[in-house]
This record gives sequence, C-alpha cells and structure tokens, in this order.
Amino acid sequence: MDVFKPAEPILRCLIEAGYQAYIVGGSVRDYLLNTPINDIDIATSAKPEQVMALFPQVIPVGLEHGTVIVRDHHTSFEVTTLREETTYSDRRHPDAVHFVTDVVKDLARRDFTMNAMTLTESKELIDPFDGQSDIINKQIQAVGKANKRFNEDPLRMLRAIRFCSQLGFMIEDQTKCALLANLPLISEVSIERIQVELEKFFKGSYLPEALILPETKKLLSHLPFFNKKTAIIADLINVTLPFHRLIDVFVYLSFTHDDIILTGFYKSYRLSNVQKREGLMLLAALERYQQKESLSLIVYHLPSHLYERFSDLVARSSLDSLDLVMLKQANQALPIHSKQDMALTGNDLIQLFPERKRGEWIGEMLDRLETNVISGKLPNQREYLKEWVTWSYPIEKKSFNY
Ligand code: ATP
Ligand code: MG
Repeated sequence: MDVFKPAEPILRCLIEAGYQAYIVGGSVRDYLLNTPINDIDIATSAKPEQVMALFPQVIPVGLEHGTVIVRDHHTSFEVTTLREETTYSDRRHPDAVHFVTDVVKDLARRDFTMNAMTLTESKELIDPFDGQSDIINKQIQAVGKANKRFNEDPLRMLRAIRFCSQLGFMIEDQTKCALLANLPLISEVSIERIQVELEKFFKGSYLPEALILPETKKLLSHLPFFNKKTAIIADLINVTLPFHRLIDVFVYLSFTHDDIILTGFYKSYRLSNVQKREGLMLLAALERYQQKESLSLIVYHLPSHLYERFSDLVARSSLDSLDLVMLKQANQALPIHSKQDMALTGNDLIQLFPERKRGEWIGEMLDRLETNVISGKLPNQREYLKEWVTWSYPIEKKSFNY
C-alpha cells in the first residue's frame, strides 16, 4: 500500500485531532484495479474550518461542497467533509450541504459502486455497496436507484461513459436503462463540468471500444456542438487511439470535416485561451502539412511541446506518418528559431528604404525574409538578406513586386 504513503501524515493528523479520516474515491478503485492511481482524495468528519486550522498549507477551493485542498510535500490532497447527497435544484449549483459523521452516508451519495469504497487509516476496506464485485465483473453500477441518481446530477451519465473509456468496463443493465431514459438532462449541466469529463472520456485507453457503444453515441448527440452535427458521431467509429487532449478532438474533427470550423467548438465549450491557441496552431500545422509545405516551416511555427500531438493528428487524419524523431530533427536543423534570430531587423529595413513611410510593408518584408531563411532559400547572413531585399523591392517601385 505504498501508493497511499503520501497521504498518511494527513490522515494521522486528522485522527490525532479526534476526527475520522479515510481515503476515498478513484484512488481506492484504481488501487483495487491494480492500475496507477491519480490524486488521493480524503474524506473526514472535520468541518472545512477545522481542516483549515489543522494544516499550514491549505487552499479553500470548494467550501460550498466542504472541500479544502491540503498541500504537503508538494502534493495536493482534496480533503472533503463527510456529507450526504447534495441536491442540485437547478442542476448547476449545489443546494445546502449536510455534513454527517457516518462514512456510509457519505459513500451512499457517490456515483458508482466502484467509487463508493473507502480505506481506513489501517487500510481496512469499507465497501457497503459491493463495489469490489463490480470491479471484478468490470461493470459500472449506480449506487442506489440509477434513475434517481442521474436525475439528481445528470453529469453522472457522462461520468459513466468516461469510465467505460478509461477502464474498459460496461455499464450494468439497469444503470444503462436509466441512462438512456435521462439523456436530454445532460444539456442542463454546466459546460465547465461537461468539459472536464469529456476530456477524460477522449483520453481513455478504451476510447475506440467506448465510442461504438450505443449509449455513448446517444449521449454525445445531446452534448453541445455534437448535437448540431450528429454526422460526426458516426465518423468517430474511425478513431482507433485515445486523444491527448479534448482540443485535439476538435482539431481532428474540423480538419477532417469541411463543414466544421474549430471556432464553433470554442463557442460551445468554454475553452481556455491556452487550449484555443494550441488548437489553432495544431490546425495550421496540419493544413501546412497537407499543402506539402516544408517540414522546416511546419516545425518553426509549432511549439515543440505540441510535436507529439501533431504527429498523432497527422496519423489519424491519414496523412502518412510523421514521427516525433523527424520533427525533432527538423527543429534542430532550423537556421533560426524566432524572428529575433534574424540577421536583418525592422530598423535595418527602415534604413534601407528611407523614403518609405513606416507601415505594414516592414512586417510583410520581414515575414518573407523569415520564410526564405527557414526554408533554406536564403542564408541568415546580413549581407545576403540585404541584397535579397534590395533586389526584390527595387527602390523606385511604389508597390511590392515579388
Ligand atoms: P479520477 O481518477 O479520474 O480522478 P475519480 O473517481 O477520482 O476519477 P473524481 O471526479 O476525482 O473522479 O471524483 C472523486 C470521487 O467523488 C469519485 O470517485 C466519486 O466517489 C465522487 N464523485 C465525483 N463526482 C461525482 C458525482 N457527480 N456524483 C457523485 N459522486 C461523485
Ligand atoms: Mg479523482
């Protein structure tokens, strides 16, 4: 149980202060599945203020749910006060939270039996809904009446299919019936919550298997954007590998479907600016590759942390194969890595053409120089670049002539 070692000081501290403390959720499930665990979540009878008073490094992230993040040795633990099911009258914001002291009540509010188990400090398993059997049978089963549970929080339907994709499990029959009966409710869930689960769904190791399940296709057809373009859901059958990020799914779909534009997804899903920028850069790189632009130009304009994702998108879009090594080699062979490396600057151009008013021509000229240098047509040496400029833009000509 070494995997839980980092959490031991937190559990001990809570228990010594007179509270109950348990390891809960995904880490217990993944431990029983013998797969690497993600974050370790902790449940405690201490109230959030009491948790905050006990630990020096705390971040009150979700006080409305009773959650505090405790930092210890550069690791974060979500410490949540034991509570009963929170009702979501508007399906977005939790109503009043009821703290409890009975751990079984806390487990009863959890979504699936495999997620409703806990380990005590002495590593004893508490499993009131027989999650262990469901893990053995590889099935996802709601805790309690599935219909009621999906009604309370329709996000659980999307969580069910993301666990199909992550774990290769199937949804138990009654849970599946309830899911199929409640599909439209997913549209009432906030887009931020949907985004988190959808990303985990598309990153799952069993994504291809999950994508062909009827419940997946039906649920996707109720999600923003997919609900307007249901044809793309049928095409997802061609997906044979998990994606790196949610934005890559959108890049792939907009690249392979003429009628889908990337910004359409941006509007439907509240993506961060980083995600948006990465998406646009990946799409531009795919388009360059399709137009048979030189590899140097492609890698120059693409940040190196996106190479692997780009190579993956090239393979999925049936544009041959382009492995990471080739991309890295092309990057190493680049004569320059940014405009700052150019041997000629905007100021040099102003001095070369003193009669011209400053304007867009400077940027345009620099862009052309840059492209020629990257593709190896011009050496990055001041004299060559000067010569090329004066030859390409004769001083007497008013308009550019290239
Ligand atoms: P992962 O390994 O991807 O983090 P996880 O099961 O830990 O998976 P989280 O979203 O981190 O998923 O949630 C932690 C735990 O909280 C879950 O295991 C489950 O017990 C409970 N939980 C999370 N979301 C819900 C929900 N919508 N309804 C009921 N219980 C939930
Ligand atoms: Mg988790």
